[in-house]
Amino acid sequence: PRDLYGPKRRNSRGVELGHRDSLDALMAEIRAQRRDVLASSLVDGAPRGGAARPVLSPADARTAVGDVAEADASLAVEAIEAARRGFRAWERTPAHDRADALLRASVALEDRRGLLLDLLQREAGKTLDDAVAELREAVDFLRYYAAQARELFGEGEALPGPTGEDNRLLHRGRGVFVCISPWNFPLAIFLGQVSAALAAGNAVVAKPAEQTPLIAFEAVKALHESGVPSSALQLVLGDGAVGAALVGAPGVAGVAFTGSTETARRINQTLAGKDGPIVPLIAETGGINAMIVDATALPEQVADDVVTSAFRSAGQRCSALRLLCVQEDVADRMIEMIAGAAAELKLGDPTAIDVHVGPVIDAEAKERLDAHVARLRRDAITRYAGDAPAQGYFVAPHIFELSAPAELKEEIFGPVLHVVRWKANELDGVLDAIEASGYGLTLGVHSRIDTTVARVLSRLDVGNCYVNRNMIGAVVGTQPFGGSGLSGTGPKAGGPNYLKRFALEQTVTVNT
Ligand code: GLU
Repeated sequence: PRDLYGPKRRNSRGVELGHRDSLDALMAEIRAQRRDVLASSLVDGAPRGGAARPVLSPADARTAVGDVAEADASLAVEAIEAARRGFRAWERTPAHDRADALLRASVALEDRRGLLLDLLQREAGKTLDDAVAELREAVDFLRYYAAQARELFGEGEALPGPTGEDNRLLHRGRGVFVCISPWNFPLAIFLGQVSAALAAGNAVVAKPAEQTPLIAFEAVKALHESGVPSSALQLVLGDGAVGAALVGAPGVAGVAFTGSTETARRINQTLAGKDGPIVPLIAETGGINAMIVDATALPEQVADDVVTSAFRSAGQRCSALRLLCVQEDVADRMIEMIAGAAAELKLGDPTAIDVHVGPVIDAEAKERLDAHVARLRRDAITRYAGDAPAQGYFVAPHIFELSAPAELKEEIFGPVLHVVRWKANELDGVLDAIEASGYGLTLGVHSRIDTTVARVLSRLDVGNCYVNRNMIGAVVGTQPFGGSGLSGTGPKAGGPNYLKRFALEQTVTVNT
């Protein structure tokens, strides 16, 4: 695989969805590889877990996509112990061999893209273009971290010192990493965490979201078949209680978590209360992401970028736009154009190629979003309300106008856009309000005045800033992703410093 992908990374090959032949070929692959998956936890490679329950499609809860046998707390502890036994052998495996296993896995993912895309669509409710983008991101993570592992974890970095002394900085695995990942990127974030922890020489116990166990199970099988020992990568399927059991188990050397700020805080508290070494947490959490639009912005471009950022993926990205702040002079025209563009979106079965917006993940998400929409229909100005299919967990795109940014108090994880207006002398107040939310994940700015752009960017501590474009879909190695404050601890996923935080540093000085 090293010859195929070079000493550096090469991104996934992707798919041309606009080309009829390649689209037909892809759809044929999806149909050919579709099957019901029976997922279970994997402890030392052996399927484990209790009675199986069906995994239902969010687009139509009458359809089962497969079955899952879930773990309990005692199986979680068993998996940590198994990973502890697997750790040393994997840590001693040369970094380039670990990297090769990840590269082989990246090829294995592309080879079974039909099955993975099908699961992304039917288990997670992704549209075809979101599913294709996610598979590509997963492949990119594997290749990026493989390339980095080779650079960082090989011979180590030679450091200057006096004659007669050899000084070297080495990076090594820490031990057992617990990786807890969300349903909104059930392949890319799942594999991003797992591959980083593995590349750095850790053994991993992975706990994917309870909503999306099937695709995680298939991803782990691909890694095992590609040469990651089953002792170094354990899979535990289950809900938050199982995650809590993993975090609280003895022998955990690190935790990587992507999900809500509240859960990250609970994990931190559990880790802080444990005996033994201080255990690091790498958390990527939510955001109340804003976009600032001034009167010089290009209206068509704004409309397109806002609709993409707020409504694509049914708004279920932590990067998604939640709060649009438009300069008063152009606000009515902008909002009308955005509403017009939103009205063009087609909602429905995500396996249909002409659908732009799929379902939200489950009944609970739909209830929470429906309640928020009902409240804002009373308490705010409705600027757009779409229609949702009756069957399945669909929430139609909505646009509400609020009188002040501070009225949006929590992250609303779905296709609901909130808009506020500002007058020329009120921009600082808007920026203060955005800062006061405490989040700092993504930020959009649409303006043709360089000094305005610079002023906004320098004023806010936001992890990923996008100027005159949409604000979702960070690309591995190109837009390292992650925020600060309530949005996470860093380091940035898909960036040059991510692997280091999964590793121990060791300085070795030899008197020669
Ligand atoms: N990295 C994704 C993006 O840039 C978002 C990740 C997430 O939602 O957790 O859109």
